[in-house]
Amino acid sequence: MSLTLYNDLTRRKEPFVPLKKGEVSFYSCGPTVYDYFHIGNARPFIVFDVLRRYLEHLGYKVTFVQNFTDIDDKMIHRAHREGITVPELAERFIAEYRKDAVALGIHDPTVAPRATEHIPEIIATIQKIIDNGHAYESGGDVYFDVRSWPKYGTLCKQNLDDLEAGARVEPGEVKHDPLDFALWKGEKPGEPAWDSPWGRGRPGWHIECSAMSSKYLGETIDIHSGGVDLLFPHHENEVAQSEAATGKPFVRYWLHNGFLLIDSEKMSKSLGNFLTARSALEKYPPLAIRLFMLSAHYRSPINFAPEGLEQAAAAVARLRNCRSDLDFAARNRTGDAAGFDLAAFSAKLTILDADFHAAMDDDFNTAAALGVLFEVVHLINTTLKDHETLPAEFFKEAKGALETCDSILGVIGPDDAESSSPEDPQGSRLSRTEIERLIEERAAARKAKNFARSDEIRDQLKAQGIVLEDTPQGTKWKREL
Ligand code: AMP
Ligand code: ZN
Repeated sequence: MSLTLYNDLTRRKEPFVPLKKGEVSFYSCGPTVYDYFHIGNARPFIVFDVLRRYLEHLGYKVTFVQNFTDIDDKMIHRAHREGITVPELAERFIAEYRKDAVALGIHDPTVAPRATEHIPEIIATIQKIIDNGHAYESGGDVYFDVRSWPKYGTLCKQNLDDLEAGARVEPGEVKHDPLDFALWKGEKPGEPAWDSPWGRGRPGWHIECSAMSSKYLGETIDIHSGGVDLLFPHHENEVAQSEAATGKPFVRYWLHNGFLLIDSEKMSKSLGNFLTARSALEKYPPLAIRLFMLSAHYRSPINFAPEGLEQAAAAVARLRNCRSDLDFAARNRTGDAAGFDLAAFSAKLTILDADFHAAMDDDFNTAAALGVLFEVVHLINTTLKDHETLPAEFFKEAKGALETCDSILGVIGPDDAESSSPEDPQGSRLSRTEIERLIEERAAARKAKNFARSDEIRDQLKAQGIVLEDTPQGTKWKREL
């Protein structure tokens, strides 16, 4: 089988065939950096990170672009409220975004462009749309002329008259039709502004994604993603702008994630059920949040509730324990393993590997893929239980199977064997060498009947989240989450 993706343009699952063989151009709408991002925003960041990793795993060279919206009304209001400039606000929350993204195991995009660093490209795109007869200047603003673009509504599958019924004109807007939307907004006192052929002003929100995606990915891109709330008007407007500017199809596969609910309700500040990713990270292990997000299909709604997160934390612990048991056994129980059928074990892993790929190929069904990962864990755990010693090849294959799944899902996290690294979601940690030196010191203390010292070492490790278990083969250790 090969990868299929549900395309919102056709409302069908379609085989994924990129425009250029072996390469994928992928644009995902990023955060507006006026505040910490919330746990709902974390969903697209995580699920599309997994799709990107899977495409890379399949051998594609992926150019993944995720923007920062660093100028809009929310940015301006918040900066005023805080008494700082809009660029200062953006700098602060881009840094905060990065901290949370690293904690959640989200890989850096290939390019993370900021709207305000692309004003010339934005102006050039608007000028092309005007030149092609699909936008007009009015009172210092520039609007897209929706009625001049018969294909408007193709993505959201609505006709212009139905859309017109829901359209609004904001105070101060001087547009010809309520459906028209701003590409450029004339300067208002106290707001950031840039020079343009239409006077000083700032870009509208939608145009930045059209301008930046074509700069980094070309006029036609393979995949464009975002939350389902962006389908209309943001993505519909992006299609209209880009195609009116270039005359080429803008996006080949449109992907939208379903909403994250809290206690089965839409998250909102007024309902008091609003949760930032930062506060979720203070409450739950980062890997549990990530696994939780992947435990439902990305297009379905998902309900963020304590039970789900607790289950996810237990699932992460099971995965990490499997890997540390495997490491421990590899160090202490490698042997000739009479009676162990390596060929049968390898054959089972091959089937599970095919199942994992089949799940991911099916519109990257991460929930099913996680299910397969747990079957791999079950197979490894029972094999470890049933055999006193196992051959080196077994350990190599078992570890390889876990690593393959986790290079895509990223739910097992860094190996206990590794010392702390900046990408470590658990923060700074004792390295394996440090831990094992302490365990040896403890063994020596016990031999010398210095139980005070041996208890002290156990407590010291416990304080660092390292739990010891004494077994006939020696002392096993693992990290609590
Ligand atoms: P924003 O910063 O509001 O533009 O949102 C960034 C991304 O988060 C967009 O792709 C949104 O569609 C997505 N998003 C916003 N709220 C939620 C939610 N509750 N559940 C899932 N995705 C969301
Ligand atoms: Zn966008």
